[in-house]
Amino acid sequence: MHSSRTSVLIIGGGPVGLALAGDLGWRGVACTLIEKGDGSVAQPKMDMVGIRAMEFCRRWGIVDWVESAGYNRDYPQDCAWVTHLNGYEFGREPFPPPSQEKPPPHSPQKRERCPQNFFDPVLQRFAKSSPSVSLRFETELLEFEDRGTHVEAIVQDVRTGEQRTISADYLVGCDGGASKVRQSLGIEMEGDAVLTYTTNIVFRCDGLEQLHDKKPGYRFIFIGPEGTWATLVAINGRDQWRFSLIGDSEKRTLTEDEARAAIVRAVGKPFDFEILSMLPWVRRQLVARHYGKGRVFIAGDAAHLTSPTGGFGMNTGLLDVVNLSWKLAGVLQGWGGEHLLESYEVEQLPVAVRNVGEATENLRRMLSPRILQPDPRVFDSNDPEVESARREYGERYTEMMRREWFSIGVHLGYVYEGSPVVVPDGTPCPPLEVSKYTPTARPGSRAPHAWIGEGKSTLDLFGKGFVLLRFGANPPDVQALRKTAAAAGLPLEVVDLQDENAARLYERRLVLVRPDGQVSWRGDALPEDVATLVDTVRGAIAGRAEPVSFKAVIAEA
Ligand SMILES: Cc1cc2nc3c(=O)[nH]c(=O)nc-3n(C[C@H](O)[C@H](O)[C@H](O)COP(=O)(O)OP(=O)(O)OC[C@H]3O[C@@H](n4cnc5c(N)ncnc54)[C@H](O)[C@@H]3O)c2cc1C
Repeated sequence: MHSSRTSVLIIGGGPVGLALAGDLGWRGVACTLIEKGDGSVAQPKMDMVGIRAMEFCRRWGIVDWVESAGYNRDYPQDCAWVTHLNGYEFGREPFPPPSQEKPPPHSPQKRERCPQNFFDPVLQRFAKSSPSVSLRFETELLEFEDRGTHVEAIVQDVRTGEQRTISADYLVGCDGGASKVRQSLGIEMEGDAVLTYTTNIVFRCDGLEQLHDKKPGYRFIFIGPEGTWATLVAINGRDQWRFSLIGDSEKRTLTEDEARAAIVRAVGKPFDFEILSMLPWVRRQLVARHYGKGRVFIAGDAAHLTSPTGGFGMNTGLLDVVNLSWKLAGVLQGWGGEHLLESYEVEQLPVAVRNVGEATENLRRMLSPRILQPDPRVFDSNDPEVESARREYGERYTEMMRREWFSIGVHLGYVYEGSPVVVPDGTPCPPLEVSKYTPTARPGSRAPHAWIGEGKSTLDLFGKGFVLLRFGANPPDVQALRKTAAAAGLPLEVVDLQDENAARLYERRLVLVRPDGQVSWRGDALPEDVATLVDTVRGAIAGRAEPVSFKAVIAEA
């Protein structure tokens, strides 16, 4: 059997596996990605690339590619809730088209609309741009074995049936919800295995906007006498739409005729359209008990499954791989300590538990009309009294739904509390906010953004190695840190910043930022024991041994 060798073998070429391949390649690490499909996306799932994910795209130099990937950037992004498109509108949250939206003050980027059929090719191009990355499509993982010193995998060409072995220092399963890698490791998932049985139908219709009297929108939510029953999403801002029949915890198989009838009900009159694909799927709230074992890790949907309400799924997966990638690079390049990779689970698992929990709460709010039903007359009466009942109901719903539309705190405010590779500074952990993000350089947090020159953000300083920021006119001497880092092989750059705004945000004269852009340590002077600081942040000191408890994180959240 033909065999080959790589440093990291990635299983799965969805957005998470591709982002890992791209980030590893960007760091100069050799990796091979295998994907059993041909790389095309039959039905896009994700469509929102969150603000933190866009910050990663900025780091990788691919923001232009995302912006020009194919979504109509002049298409309004309003979300509206209606009886049907020719019926009554309960309310609406207006959002500008992507071309007009501005980044918030906390970031040099903004979230982008880039559905998976556009985003996956962008990530493929990014991964292919590094000579150390090899992408192999139509290649399936059959089995693997962790041999202690390396991992041995057997893969198969799905067209010819030819098998080959690939040996790798590490294997990462980015192989989706049904992850063979996770199952082979015997890792269970905790949470709720069925929230709803939903069916997505992608259809094509030219000029859908002309068939109704509502203002255009990216997302419509349909509320009928039975409560919230369907959603409609503009997946290219032109002629393609994704209709989701939300369903409930009872499994049903939808025929094409039933799907057509549901779409006509949502639009409110018969019209011509072409069904491109139908995809039944199960909405879940699950997180793996562990993020790996030995030399094998899992990331993305392989590690956590969430309701799409909030758009956290892939975005959490991108956090996973950006966290894991620099640690793999560190260990492979020799400066990462023997405990560095253990910190991946300790840091990312609680983030997933919080995010999937928040997504389920978003779902609960979206479906609330199933329980808090409006006056039945609101569906078909023009009576002024009914009009005001409809408005009141709509305003309450609009207010409640805001938490889903404005979730910057989830995207930027995650924190690696209790991480063994972060040195706490004694300040208390602020509560996790959802609709608000308060920038902080407290260790474990995302190092905050400040403009430090024309078009240059503090975030542009971070990425490849560790960065020690020094603030103020007479910065403290950091020679001891430079020397100790050099002795350990830790890549470290010292950057002096005179910017007052940045100094205010970062609060200390010295702030150490790690390669993923999170703060590992801060202080006004170096600690006496610089060796322990360096050994802690590079994972050379044994950290917390006990596993992360799902229930404890849920309770805390
Ligand atoms: C309707 C809907 C809307 C969503 N919207 C958003 C959104 O706006 N934003 C967001 O962040 N998330 C969203 N999500 C979630 C998001 O789509 C997923 O979290 C994301 O696709 C997960 O990416 P992944 O790469 O981990 O897994 P997947 O996309 O499932 O990719 C896994 C890949 O692994 C391959 N594979 C599996 N087994 C093997 C094997 N043995 N050998 C080789 N290859 C294998 C599969 O073929 C597949 O290509 C949405 C989900 C849905 C259902």
